[in-house]
Amino acid sequence: MSAMHQELAEVLQTLPDERRERAAGRDFWLGHWRGHEVVAVLSCIGKVAAATTATALIERFGVTAIVFTGVAGGLGEGVAVGDVVLATSFVQHDMDASPLFPRYEVPLYGRTRFDTDAALTDRLRAAAAQVLAHPADALGASAVSEFALQAPRAHQGLIASGDRFVATSAESRALRQSLPDALAVEMEGAAVAQVCHDYGVPLAALRTISDRADDSAHVDFTRFIDQVASRYSAATLDRFFDLL
Ligand code: SAH
Repeated sequence: MSAMHQELAEVLQTLPDERRERAAGRDFWLGHWRGHEVVAVLSCIGKVAAATTATALIERFGVTAIVFTGVAGGLGEGVAVGDVVLATSFVQHDMDASPLFPRYEVPLYGRTRFDTDAALTDRLRAAAAQVLAHPADALGASAVSEFALQAPRAHQGLIASGDRFVATSAESRALRQSLPDALAVEMEGAAVAQVCHDYGVPLAALRTISDRADDSAHVDFTRFIDQVASRYSAATLDRFFDLL
């Protein structure tokens, strides 16, 4: 699952035999990647859209695992633009049924966090490490210097999701205070993680940091996705399927 058109386009370039099926108002691309059967799809933006996409992948296409790639705003200290974050778990930062349920708890699940699959995440981290070790191979030397990506890092931990593009310093400060261990913020992951939990389908998720969720979060967003995030995603997935 890709969050962005540009990422999906990069992915489709690597599937030699993709064929399209339409379901739930979305295009699903079926094909093979390094010999593995895959379904590629745009998650669409926001929690509900991403949950619908994940449910269709599982119910209609019978996928046995989901790998999500996209971009996110960096929250944790040292989580810089151009780094990547591998999710170990997700929380919905806008879930609040208090005082009936504790803050962040998804009512009737008795939990605030939904974990990704450890083995799948390990493999995705190994793939990302190979790509980040030589960023110019995936991005080209000019993008590396334009975005100052000489030493990108891979982080691993909690990602917060909510139906809001976090684009002010005040908002990201508030998130850091209320969820001090959250490394990044985005708009889909926790919904996909909840669906995967419901169906018992393993999930791994990788987010390239496109901004710091602050007052300049919108600057050059599109260019960064074109030049950096989509290329990291496609290169990492290629390594991932090679390692499988
Ligand atoms: N302009 C984009 C829309 C971006 S919405 C377009 O036209 O496609 C933001 C997307 O990036 C979502 O998928 C979200 O998951 C992620 N994201 C990146 N930075 C974010 C931030 N600071 N806050 C919330 N989501 C962010």
